[in-house]
Amino acid sequence: MIADIYEGAVFRPPSEAYSLILQTTIGCSWNRCTFCVAFTDKEYRVKSLRDIQRDVDKIIPYYKDVQRIFLADGNALAMPTAELASILDFLYSKFHILERVSIYGGPLDIRKKSVDELRILKEKGLELVYFGLESGSDEVLRKIRKGAKSDVMIDTARKVREAGLKLSVIFILGLGGTELSDVHARETARVISAQDPDYTAALTLMVEPNSEIIKELGSGNLTLLNPSEVLKELRSIVEGIDVTNTVFRANHASNYAPIGGVLPSDKERILAHIDKAMKSGRFKPEFLRAL
Ligand code: SF4
Repeated sequence: MIADIYEGAVFRPPSEAYSLILQTTIGCSWNRCTFCVAFTDKEYRVKSLRDIQRDVDKIIPYYKDVQRIFLADGNALAMPTAELASILDFLYSKFHILERVSIYGGPLDIRKKSVDELRILKEKGLELVYFGLESGSDEVLRKIRKGAKSDVMIDTARKVREAGLKLSVIFILGLGGTELSDVHARETARVISAQDPDYTAALTLMVEPNSEIIKELGSGNLTLLNPSEVLKELRSIVEGIDVTNTVFRANHASNYAPIGGVLPSDKERILAHIDKAMKSGRFKPEFLRAL
């Protein structure tokens, strides 16, 4: 049984649906964002190389021909560079047709690594970093306790790209509520434009029962957006994004309408699609939304 190699619930980006998920860290090195309950039941730690090798030995008989591996849990890039480099060497030696290894990376952990360290990881076969921006607004970032301001978000994302790694930036629609929707949209577009990622993904806020953010509902600090307001916010962000070339996706299970394309080339088509969805008034029902 390979299920017993996993500790607790495991999360991965939607685009890693066909990847082998391997936990190299347990939990999240930050674990304080008010909207997130993904790892609240886990204490952060780096798994030992020996444990990871043991996990891989269990996996190999079932999944020898793996082409993609995603390293979990949250912010696995927080682990020491030398250890991560050894893991990458080990994975490429074991999986002979492995093409890509990707990972979650948070701004606070990337800040501790030099561009040269990131470059070493790239040379060892790390390909893509998923980066949780959540919002470009300093006010929203402070409220959700992300631990990093927009200038850090921009600097750390640029470091990732400078090292030659691919960058996938994720933000959350509705995160500032109706109160901060305008500044959330404007600033998120500004920061994404400065980060210039290869991929950009929009999720929509889902308030989990055990989250910190739920306490803000009804206090006047956070009023949830309705589906039309979410799409209006999405429209402003898409309109404001000015990047070289990013694959833009808003088709996550949490979103009210599946929207996607390439920016800037598809901008008019994406905006027209959003307008059509708003006009139709047909949105994914709440009970079908998921994380
Ligand atoms: S959103 Fe990301 S950084 Fe924040 S607590 Fe959750 S996993 Fe950690």
